[in-house]
Amino acid sequence: MGAEVRSTCPYCGVGCGVLLSADGSGGLAVRGDPAHPTNRGRLCSKGSALGETVGLEERLLAPQVHGSTATWKDALNLVATRFRKTIETHGSDSVAFYVSGQMLTEDYYVANKLMKGFIGSANIDTNSRLCMASTVAGHRRAFGTDTVPGVYDDLDEADLIVLVGSNLAWCHPILYPRIMAAREKRALRLVVIDPRRTASCEGADLHLALEPGSDVALFNALLAEVARRGAVDRDYVSAHVEGFDPALKAAQGSDPAFTGLSQETLRDFCDLWIGTEKVVTIFSQGVNQSSSGSDKVNAILNCHLATGRIGKPGMGPFSVTGQPNAMGGREVGGLANMLACHLDIENVDHRDAVRGFWNAPAMPEAPGLKAVEMFRAVADGRIKALWIIHSNPAVTLPDADTVQDAIASCPFVVVSDITAATDTARRANVLLPATAWAEKSGTVTNSDRTISRQRAALAPPGEARPDWAILAEVAQRMGFAEGFNWDSEAEIFAEYAALSGLAGTSGKDFDISNRAGLSSSDYDSMPPFRWPDGPAKSGGRFFADGGFYHPDGKARMLALAPRAPAAALTPEHPFRLNTGRLRDQWHTMTRTALSPRLSAHLPEPFVDMHPDDAARLGLAPADLLRLESPQGSAILRLRITRDVQPGHLFAPMHWTGETAPSARIDALIASVTDPVSGQPESKAAAVSAARFEAAWYGFAIATARPRPECAYWALARTDRGFRAELAGTEEIADAEDFARALFGLPDAALQMSKDMAKGRTRLAFMDGEILLAALYLDHKPVRLMRDFLAGLPGTETPWALAGTARGDMPDPGPVVCSCYAVGRNTILRAIGAEGLQSVEAIGASLSAGTNCGSCKAELAALLQQGVSRAAE
Ligand code: SF4
Repeated sequence: MGAEVRSTCPYCGVGCGVLLSADGSGGLAVRGDPAHPTNRGRLCSKGSALGETVGLEERLLAPQVHGSTATWKDALNLVATRFRKTIETHGSDSVAFYVSGQMLTEDYYVANKLMKGFIGSANIDTNSRLCMASTVAGHRRAFGTDTVPGVYDDLDEADLIVLVGSNLAWCHPILYPRIMAAREKRALRLVVIDPRRTASCEGADLHLALEPGSDVALFNALLAEVARRGAVDRDYVSAHVEGFDPALKAAQGSDPAFTGLSQETLRDFCDLWIGTEKVVTIFSQGVNQSSSGSDKVNAILNCHLATGRIGKPGMGPFSVTGQPNAMGGREVGGLANMLACHLDIENVDHRDAVRGFWNAPAMPEAPGLKAVEMFRAVADGRIKALWIIHSNPAVTLPDADTVQDAIASCPFVVVSDITAATDTARRANVLLPATAWAEKSGTVTNSDRTISRQRAALAPPGEARPDWAILAEVAQRMGFAEGFNWDSEAEIFAEYAALSGLAGTSGKDFDISNRAGLSSSDYDSMPPFRWPDGPAKSGGRFFADGGFYHPDGKARMLALAPRAPAAALTPEHPFRLNTGRLRDQWHTMTRTALSPRLSAHLPEPFVDMHPDDAARLGLAPADLLRLESPQGSAILRLRITRDVQPGHLFAPMHWTGETAPSARIDALIASVTDPVSGQPESKAAAVSAARFEAAWYGFAIATARPRPECAYWALARTDRGFRAELAGTEEIADAEDFARALFGLPDAALQMSKDMAKGRTRLAFMDGEILLAALYLDHKPVRLMRDFLAGLPGTETPWALAGTARGDMPDPGPVVCSCYAVGRNTILRAIGAEGLQSVEAIGASLSAGTNCGSCKAELAALLQQGVSRAAE
C-alpha cells in the first residue's frame, strides 16, 4: 500500500473525510479520516465500501463518437464545432449544459464560466435542482442569501432535534449516530416528521405521520401556537425581521386538520418545540421535492425567525443536502438562476462586476432554463446541443421516459461520465471519458459550509481526463483561449477565490478571497475550512444578531398557505406514491451496484404497501405489483408493511435500465415543479396499483452477468457473480433453451428437475462439480433461500437444484450489517438462541453494527421483532 491520501467521500452531503491507500494495482483501501472535523474517522456503509467501486469493469476509457472509439482531438473538435455552429445558427440559448452535484467546485466553475460568461446563456443547471433547489429559494426569500445558518456542532448542543422529510439514519448516516450518541449523554429529544415510518423513527420520541405535502400547515400551526403561548422573541423580530404580522395572520388562518394529525399529536409537538429553546430543525428531500417545497422551507424558517432561534449554539433551521458538492454548486453558480459566489444574475451591478472580472464577451441578463424546463426545451427542439456531465437525467428527471426520448431526439448530445453503461450515455452522440472520484483533485463543500479537498489517489485509467480540463479544451476550441488556459485545478481555485472578493465588495456573504493567492502546494495541503473565515463570534454560524442580506439587513417571514400535492388522487389513480433513497445505494447505482455487499442489503426494487390495502386488493407478500400513473408504469416487488399508511406507497428511486428496466420509478412522476424553485414534486405521485399477472417467475444465480429478456427482471451483484429476479407474461416454451440464452452457456453440462404438479422447473449448469449458474422457475413467486443460494456460483455445489441450504449451512437471510455481512436470519436466530436484549449485545455476539453503525436502527427493529416472537 502507498502513503495515505486525504480526500472526501463522493456520496452524500455530510462530506466525510477519507484516507485512501492505493495498492499499486488499481485497488484502493479506504478508511475514515480521524482528523476530518465532519466524521472524525467514522464512515457509513457506503463510505466503507468505496474501495469496492473503483474497478475498471464498466469504465469508459476512451472517447466515443457515434458509438466508435475516437481520438480526444477529434471528439473535442466535434464538440466545439457543433456547439459553435449551433450558437451561430440558432443563438446562445439553443445550447445547454446539465451538470451535477457530483462535480468538484473547480469543474463547476469552468462549466459556469463557459456558459454564462462566454457562450452568453444561463442554460446551465445542475441535478441538484432535483435535490435542494427549494431550500435555495427558501433561504434567498428569507435571508436574502442562500446560506445555511448552522453548523454540525449544533447537533451536539441541541436539546430537541426535529427531522422533517429526512430519513437521516439512511440518507445522512454519519449525522444520525451523532444524534444518538448525544442522546446517550443527555436528555436530547428527537421528533420525526414523515408520512412514512423510517429507520430514523427507531430512536425517536415522537413520529408525526402527516399527510404528504402538509408541512406548511404543520409549521403554520406551530407558528400560531408560538404566538398564542407568548413565545415570540419580540426583540429579535423587531430588530431583525420583516413580515411577522402577515405571516402570523396567514398561519392563524391555516387549518391544522390539513396535516391529518390528531390534536393531541399536534399539541405534543408544539409542547416540545416551544418548550425547548435549543431546537434544530433538520430538513431534506421530503421538504424540498414538492410543488410547495419553497413554502415548506419558509414555513420552517418562519418559526425559527419568530423565536430568534437561529445562528445560536444548538438552534436553527438546518438543510442537509443530498449530494457531495450540492453546496459547492450553489456557491459557484451551478444553478441556472444564480451567477457565482451568491451574486444575482438579475442584478446589473453583479453582472457587470463578474463580466469585468472574467473579461467576458457575453453575459446573460436573465436566468436560464431550470432542469425540468431544460429537458422540455430539448423535447420541443429549442435546445439543439446538450452537454450532460456526470448525471443520468434519463432516469432521474420526472416523466423519465419522455426525458429519455427527448435526449434520444436531440440533434447533438455529449455525455461526460465514468461509464457508458447508463440510460443517458446510451443515447449520446459523443461520450467523453472523465476521471472518477478517486482520480480527481479539487474541492467540495458539505452541508455545514465546510470546504474540503478531494485528492487523487489513483492515476486516471485509459484516456480519462478531469472535467475541468475537458471543458477548458472545448472552450479553447470554441475561440475562448484566454479565459480557459489553466494548468491545474489549483489555478482555477485561486481564480474562483479571487472572484468571490466581488461578493464581499457587493455586500454578499460568500467571500473566500483571502485564498486567492494560494500557491499550488498550499492548495494541495489545504485543510478543511468552513466559510466564513476568521474568528466568527458565533462559532461560524450566521444570523444570531441579524445581519441578513436583504437591502435593509432584515430577514423576511412569509405569509404561507398550505397546498395539496399537484397530482390529485382520482378513482383511476388512488394511491399516493412516495419515492426515496435506500441505505446502501447511491442515486442510479453506477458505483454502489458494483459492490456486492452494498447490493446485498436490498437487492431488488420494491414497493411498500399497507396490509389493509394489500388485503383489499387480494395481494400477498412477494407478489409483483404494477404501478401506473398518467406518465408511465413500473413493476416492483410487493412488501406489505405498516411503515406506510393506508393509501400510501413507497418505492426507492435507484433502479435503471441497466439494473431493472421496469423499475425506473421516475417514469411515474409528473413533471410538476415548485413555481419558485423549479424543483420537481418527486414524492407525491398519484398511481394505480394492481398485481402484475405473470405467467412465470424466476430466480437466477450465476458467475457471469445474465442477459434477461423478459417483462420483469432485476439484477444485483454478489460475491460470487450475480443474482437476478425474473418474471414473464408468456409461458416459456423450452426452459433449457431459455436458460442457456439467459446465461450465455450454450454447451455447459445441465442438471434439470421438473415438478409438473407444482409447476416448478430447476436448471443448474455445471463445470464438473462447479456450479456456473442456476435458474429456478415457478408459476408463482419463487420461494427459496435466496441469500444462501447467491453464495454458491463458482463453488463445488452438485446439489444446487434443491434450492435450500444444507443443515450445516443455514440461510443467513438478507444482509442487514453490510460491513460484516450479517444477515437478518442470523441476527434473529442469535436474538432467540442467546437471549440478546440490546443492539450492543447483538454487536458483541455477531459484530453487526460495530463498524460504521449504519444498521443500528434496523438492529433495533429486529430486536423488537425477536422479542415479540419470543413473547408469542
Ligand atoms: S455519511 Fe456516508 S455517504 Fe455520506 S459522506 Fe459520510 S461516509 Fe459518505
